[in-house]
Amino acid sequence: MRKLSAVKGMNDIFPPESAQWEWFEQHVRDVMGQYAYGAIRTPIVEHTQLFVKGTGETTDIVEKEMYSFEDRLNGEHLTLRPENTPGVVRAAIEHNLTYDGGKRLYYIGPMFRHERPQRGRYRQFYQVGAEALGFAGAEVDAELIVLASQLLERIGLPGVRVELNSLGLPAERQQHRVALIRHFEQHADLLDADAQRRLHSNPLRILDTKNPAMQEMVAQAPQLLGFLGEQSLKHFETVQALLSACGVPWSINPRAVRGLDYYSHTVFEFVTDELGAQGTLCGGGRYDGLFEVLGGKPTPAVGWGLGIERVLELLRVRGLAAAAPVPDAYAVIPDAELLPVAFQTVLALRRAGVRVQMHAGTQAGAGSMKSQFKRADSSGARYALVFGQQEVQQGTVIIKSLRDGAGAQELRSLTGVADWAATLQSPT
Ligand code: ATP
Ligand code: MG
Repeated sequence: MRKLSAVKGMNDIFPPESAQWEWFEQHVRDVMGQYAYGAIRTPIVEHTQLFVKGTGETTDIVEKEMYSFEDRLNGEHLTLRPENTPGVVRAAIEHNLTYDGGKRLYYIGPMFRHERPQRGRYRQFYQVGAEALGFAGAEVDAELIVLASQLLERIGLPGVRVELNSLGLPAERQQHRVALIRHFEQHADLLDADAQRRLHSNPLRILDTKNPAMQEMVAQAPQLLGFLGEQSLKHFETVQALLSACGVPWSINPRAVRGLDYYSHTVFEFVTDELGAQGTLCGGGRYDGLFEVLGGKPTPAVGWGLGIERVLELLRVRGLAAAAPVPDAYAVIPDAELLPVAFQTVLALRRAGVRVQMHAGTQAGAGSMKSQFKRADSSGARYALVFGQQEVQQGTVIIKSLRDGAGAQELRSLTGVADWAATLQSPT
């Protein structure tokens, strides 16, 4: 059979790089715990209708990016999730998760979008997401933004710019929409094909255009902020004040929009200039109308999604990628007969929390002492545990330093190796 490769735009992640992923995900779990967000795991495959309704028919995702297929066995229309908010909301409705008040949830997992692969943009990519369901107050919008900000700060990326906007309430947006369409119609000669198509389906999205020829006209378009009523302004100001109180650097970007009717009030993005066109690390907002769109009771909600590849790429660009973990010790076993004793001893060490890499190949006679020590060195371990024939007979093992003071060695009794474990200081 011809050699197969991974599907275009879908990546294998393996050591040592996978260590970065686990390191980052551990920080995510820790921070989520600090904010009392609990993990939710929803299926990767959902009914296509969930995204058509929940992500929105007029979005790029639904129009051209979904991996959709028909189940061969029963003809169901299914889709690999392009994002997880609709799945979380579906689960919340299905299991009545907000019956006794709000629920704070988070997830980590793969998403799928058929886009043109490039740096920071893949067809299978990973998101961390946080969703607060059943809370109407602006303080929860702020909590979520502070959470994302603290997560980035914790991993060594403090001060990533937050761009904020408010979409107000549906009635306010409706008035703005009328004014917006009027503005675009007055400049119909400048609209590109995409914009013409969106003029009546989703004019807000025209504000999002990257077409240089339309920039000036778009910049002069009426701003949604000018249409907000007192209640919406108050909501927005509360978010701003809480972010300022926490020292989160924010600015208003009137063009940050999510052109769907179920959004309201706050929308935000964490943006960096260091990743070219893929500079948005995290995007989110309040989606008070989504529960109803998906057949649930009216339930206010707010959330964000953050791209893990982009965060790890930013760490790399800034030279902050953490060193991959190495074992504490490498077990050198010159003779297969000594394997049972070596296994027992290494097990005792591992039980005591020591990370031990065992030489493999002793049984097959594939490891001269010299080659075993070479492997011990390249493993990065600080110590070699040498199970010499003579020493083992005397009930001992040699512990040889491979790094600081290389060559120094001591004898430890086989039954007392756990004592040695206690003297080991983990370098992390
Ligand atoms: P973009 O404008 O970059 O396409 P988006 O608005 O489609 O982003 P969201 O749906 O808000 O993105 O997803 C949240 C985050 O997920 C993004 O800010 C980004 O970090 C990440 N992301 C989105 N699409 C991809 C992708 N194809 N590959 C890698 N990361 C992605
Ligand atoms: Mg996109």
